[in-house]
Amino acid sequence: MKKKIFIIIGVLLCLLLFSLFFFLFFKDENKTDNNDLSYEERFKNKGYSDDEIATILDKVSKDDYDFVLETGYDKSLIDILNSSDYNEDNFSNYIEYYMKNKKSNINDIITIINSGYDLMNYPASSLLASLVKEKYYINDNVARYLDYGNSHNVDSKKIIAMVNSKADLGFYSNSYDSNLNNNNLVLVNKFYHLKEDYTPSDLVTLGGQYNKGANSKMRKEAADAFMKMVDAAKLDNIILYNMSAFRSYDYQVNLYDRYIKRDGKAAADKYSARPGYSEHQSGLCSDLNNISDSFDGTDEAIWLRDNAYKYGFILRFPKGKEDITGYKYEPWHYRYVGVDAAKIIYEDDITLEEYYAYYIENTSE
Ligand SMILES: [Zn+2]
Repeated sequence: MKKKIFIIIGVLLCLLLFSLFFFLFFKDENKTDNNDLSYEERFKNKGYSDDEIATILDKVSKDDYDFVLETGYDKSLIDILNSSDYNEDNFSNYIEYYMKNKKSNINDIITIINSGYDLMNYPASSLLASLVKEKYYINDNVARYLDYGNSHNVDSKKIIAMVNSKADLGFYSNSYDSNLNNNNLVLVNKFYHLKEDYTPSDLVTLGGQYNKGANSKMRKEAADAFMKMVDAAKLDNIILYNMSAFRSYDYQVNLYDRYIKRDGKAAADKYSARPGYSEHQSGLCSDLNNISDSFDGTDEAIWLRDNAYKYGFILRFPKGKEDITGYKYEPWHYRYVGVDAAKIIYEDDITLEEYYAYYIENTSE
């Protein structure tokens, strides 16, 4: 009896196992059948037309075909593939970004993905697309660019300048120590300041024809470049000279106090620096010839504007950049930054703030 029961149990187990195998095999067989359909047929089943399928086969890498199937039918997918800026390598990123931004312009989506920056979590917009195309775009600043751009009616170049320079935060709103390791490119402005006791160790005195002012000291390298510039100008019958170069912290205390008493703090802040925040304490700048608005448009001012960069000097507070530098236009104030930086600043029509943010402070790609 016992034997019989074991045989029956054994047969039942065998049947069970057999049906399990059959089921698994059948299931597999089904899948294999489906895979045997060509991708063309499978795209067709999703609703793509013959023309659209031809476009997919032509422009999408084989590895991404399954991605197309997962996406299902979407006419915008074909629009993406037909864009002149379409790049096959970015295909899966386009689709991922498009899925999050179905109502956005396809060209904006393509531009933003093509930029190579990780912007997957930022909504696609024409503003973002125009920002990423700007030369001085810094990805770390994107949230502030968008904030500023959405609340100010200015172009993307201006948005980037305002944010990179920190001007969007408000002058004197944050305070950092100027990094003296940057040497000729040290930044001193309404955010970066020099310490009370800082005096450059290599100041030299500009003498003779090179100086007519009381503050005649400059750092050695800047002074050498200054004299070279004055000599070159002279060959063009332009007479240049320093009126005010290095000024100490204490000097600025007195100057600024005097201006406050005369014009009030708000007005004084527009043309004079608070102590520690004056570039004159760096020993790298000079006020030339005539410290007044009447200097603007003179042959000397025009020569400086067009030639100073060749000697490593930049017009520090240009017209039209008052909201970036925090100072009104000063045609007489030139800052030494070295020839390489001066050339970029001159040619790209940017301020030292923008140069510093992008070339020195920027640690992102
Ligand atoms: Zn000055």
